[in-house]
Amino acid sequence: MTRVAIVTGGTRGIGEAICLALQEQGRTVVANYAGNEEKAQAFAERTGIKTYRWDVGDFEASQEGCARVAAEVGPIDIVVNNAGITRDGVLHKMTFDDWNEVMRINLGGCFNMAKATFPGMRERGWGRIVNIGSINGQAGQYGQVNYAAAKSGIHGFTKALAQEGAKYGVTANAIAPGYIDTDMVAAVPPAVLDKIIARIPVGRLGQASEIARGVVFLTSEEGGFVTGSTMSINGGQHMY
Ligand code: NDP
Repeated sequence: MTRVAIVTGGTRGIGEAICLALQEQGRTVVANYAGNEEKAQAFAERTGIKTYRWDVGDFEASQEGCARVAAEVGPIDIVVNNAGITRDGVLHKMTFDDWNEVMRINLGGCFNMAKATFPGMRERGWGRIVNIGSINGQAGQYGQVNYAAAKSGIHGFTKALAQEGAKYGVTANAIAPGYIDTDMVAAVPPAVLDKIIARIPVGRLGQASEIARGVVFLTSEEGGFVTGSTMSINGGQHMY
């Protein structure tokens, strides 16, 4: 049976790798994105995957967007909440807007997407939800109280949702990536990045495809006994 999967923030970085890996598994994949049309169009041409633009931090837009996907492609069985942003800064310089945007998109997006899709999964008796957290949500990170709080919140959200979905065949799991070679990490100053890599036991950044393998496992037909877990994929940087 072809299951329909949606990957938020699916048009580049880790999200793109997740889309490709799920497509390779025979899933019918669609990718959501925020507004970078150039990247989204290039992604759609490269992969043949349908793209949908909306802000996952917007509750109504997420309900409408998922309803549109369901009508055009089919009921959504797999959700990968991957969309995320950073607005880094030490607390004494961080604005309320920096705090709020990261909470609204990174954590609020998971709620908005689950509200749009979990009831249908529950009714149909099968579903897979994977939320992309972060090593910085597990361990904290200087200059990231907003991001660490949102990602840590994702881990709690996942465990609570897993309990609600368990008897309906719906699993919810999180992946906590370490430092992965994407646009988000390219924004880190080189001197800081060198220090980060020095702390990774395997001695390198991770690849987006290495996160995607974890998503393939957690969304598989055989993955039904794995729920409420956090899979750390971080090169041994934080053993939690
Ligand atoms: P990128 O910055 O490379 O890509 C982010 C993606 O999210 C883009 O597709 C972007 O769309 C989309 N996006 C951003 N805001 C929204 C929004 N409001 N609504 C819908 N889509 C949105 O990120 P990465 O691939 O590096 O990261 C993916 C996830 O992994 C994030 O949640 C991140 O926090 C997490 N992570 C990343 C790590 C890393 O080292 N890279 C480490 C740990 C966790 P558009 O292109 O239109 O802007």
